[in-house]
Amino acid sequence: MISLYDILQASNGQLFGEPAAQLFSDFCTDAARATPNAFFIALKGDWGDTHRHMQEAIQRGASGVLCMRPPDFDTTGVSVVLVRDTTQAILLWARYIMLKSSVKTIAIAGSSGKTMAVEAVRRVLATRYAVLAGDVDSADNRLSIPLALARLTAAHQWVVFRLDTAQPGDMNALLSLTQPQTGVVLNIDPLSPPQFENIDQFTAEQRRLVEHLNTDQAVILNYDDDRVRSFSSAARAKTITVGVDNFGATLMAYNVVAGLQGTGFDVRYGSERHIGKWIPLLGKHQLYGVLAALAVGLQHNIPLDEGLRALSDLKPLPGRMNPLMGIDDCLLIDDTHSATPQSTIAALDWVAHARDPQQRVIFVLGDLDALGAQSQVGHRQVGQHTVGIADVLITEGIEAAGAGRAALDQGMPAAELYTTFSNVDSIAALKSRLRLTAHDVVVVKGGAARRMERVVQALLKNQDEAQLLTRQTTDMLRAVTFQPTRPTWVELDTDALAANVRAIKAIIGQQVALMAVVKADAYGHGAVTTSQTALLNGASYLAVANLEEALELREAGITAPILILSYTPVYSVREVVRQNLTVTLYDLDMARAYDHASGELGRKLRVHVKVDTGMGRLGVMPGDTLTLFRHLMTLKHIEIEGIYTHFSAADDDPMYTAEQVVAFKNVLRPLRGSGIQFKYIHAANSAGMLTVKDDLFNMVRCGIALYGLHPSQKVRLPEAFKPVMTWKTVVAQVKTLPAGHMVGYGNSYRTQREETVAILPIGYGDGF
Ligand SMILES: *Cc1c(COP(=O)(O)O)cnc(C)c1O
Repeated sequence: MISLYDILQASNGQLFGEPAAQLFSDFCTDAARATPNAFFIALKGDWGDTHRHMQEAIQRGASGVLCMRPPDFDTTGVSVVLVRDTTQAILLWARYIMLKSSVKTIAIAGSSGKTMAVEAVRRVLATRYAVLAGDVDSADNRLSIPLALARLTAAHQWVVFRLDTAQPGDMNALLSLTQPQTGVVLNIDPLSPPQFENIDQFTAEQRRLVEHLNTDQAVILNYDDDRVRSFSSAARAKTITVGVDNFGATLMAYNVVAGLQGTGFDVRYGSERHIGKWIPLLGKHQLYGVLAALAVGLQHNIPLDEGLRALSDLKPLPGRMNPLMGIDDCLLIDDTHSATPQSTIAALDWVAHARDPQQRVIFVLGDLDALGAQSQVGHRQVGQHTVGIADVLITEGIEAAGAGRAALDQGMPAAELYTTFSNVDSIAALKSRLRLTAHDVVVVKGGAARRMERVVQALLKNQDEAQLLTRQTTDMLRAVTFQPTRPTWVELDTDALAANVRAIKAIIGQQVALMAVVKADAYGHGAVTTSQTALLNGASYLAVANLEEALELREAGITAPILILSYTPVYSVREVVRQNLTVTLYDLDMARAYDHASGELGRKLRVHVKVDTGMGRLGVMPGDTLTLFRHLMTLKHIEIEGIYTHFSAADDDPMYTAEQVVAFKNVLRPLRGSGIQFKYIHAANSAGMLTVKDDLFNMVRCGIALYGLHPSQKVRLPEAFKPVMTWKTVVAQVKTLPAGHMVGYGNSYRTQREETVAILPIGYGDGF
């Protein structure tokens, strides 16, 4: 319970208007989730200002408000407290409450596993004491303490806090608020969070907890983590170390058995041994939180066997190595809450030990949580680690694609790797490409922003279990924020791209192949992402403008056939052959030079011959085509795979396009007559695909339609298509200009009267 009196006392705040409610059930920082009788705290931070949500909070039942600016609406019936700084005020309140109450505190620090450790410690202590688990998520780590203390009652003897440190200084602030008697440091991930300069700075931040504790207090350290173990030299408090299979530790788990539903182990503490214990948590890495909880128990006279009993029915947390029943009776392991390289490798190691040899392991990896400059290294490390463990690897997202390439380099067969960029495509790969069975273990892992829980949800056998997934509440969804370093950006909707590709396939039918035109960086949409998404959704060929663009795709690990549409100089042909690319051919002299170059490599060059049926750009003239072919047939190192032409006005002039089709057919007839076969014959671009439906031959080359844009005002896409790109910016300034004031270069506007203008941070560099 929160009392108005305490808040006024602690914060030195001023009542605004008449006081109403005196007691409040909980704090609330998200107006959309205000509950009756809550106390709303209006905050102002780098991310914005929630004072404008005060009224909404009150409408939803909040009966108290803490704010820096007085409300400009009627607040009758609501207790409003005005302070200079609401964050500071609420921290003062937390300190006041901590001093006033006699509750003792335990603080849990480290890179990962803290939430489970809080729960384990709570369970062990709860065998003897009244314990509050102070485990509240907050965008500002320091606020997690007051938010947790809102539920403290006079009956509580212990509170267990999770100390999250996102930036230097967080630990000191948290320690001065919580004043712990016992500390636990679980682990330190070798890749530090982005706000820290390096791992040493992050390590020093965690060490502050150890340094803070006094001789009559206790600290529990992970013996198996070199950095954490080294803290024992900085400790004045009694030190207890916990470890797995490591005889140096005070409290040790050994004979660990990784199972698909839990973990078995023996425990040793001095001369005491407990054999054949079992917890329903997956992975050796989860034992550290369990051991730490047992150690806290030992500190407070709770014998090991009692502690072990209290932990025997621990439940996996949502999104943390949580086993669920999947479709077709596969075993789903939901590890989607967050992902560091270390926790991802831990999940892989678990499955390597727990799997049955007959089982197939499918590892679905979304982009890890932001790693800043260490992103590439981190993803590669994870990718390499999948080899030999995962039978199939599905990567989702641009960063995770790097993990896929590292897996290929390390020897994973290309056929076992699927590269996707959206939840929808990952789900499609799992459902329609892999034929899941009861012999499959599907481990799904990824950082918060990737929302991989949606992949898990799509694979659940029983949709009622969706409530067991992570991020099911609105404020946790909001925590997945996007902070662009440039205030103008584009957003690409990979799901829309996938849907557009499928819509094209539905129009052209199974007999006609789709060549996805991804030249010019996929019209600015990103060539690699677009290509991989198009290939997963029904395209079978790619087209680019030149060798450079083709190489970018090959370097990204794309093995699909690629046609170079434009001119390829003879000096490039060897590379074209080596990279297994296809060139456009329209000239005999060039054909001879190409033949010579590919002959030197002892390989064949694959070509599509281009005929100019009326566009007047690249292509052999119809009258010269037969002669060209007669000579081409004699060239041993040229393999003619296709023939094509290009429409010049399919989006505008159907008559002209029809003439081009006739001209193309007139070229094809004698070629066929002389027995020349083509694997691919193509003419239509996007507009052609929509307008000359009877003459698609057996392939279409679509660009603009992939991206969901209408070819022209006359030729419009059907309803099913959606634009892939959205261009966004923010308002940088709003101000009022007097009448007659100029606006913009060239004084292009003059205000008519007093006018309000909004300034957007967009210019040439943003493509405007
Ligand atoms: C760019 C291009 C296309 C794709 O045209 P869209 O109108 O974007 O579908 C097809 N063929 C060739 C030869 C191209 O150069």
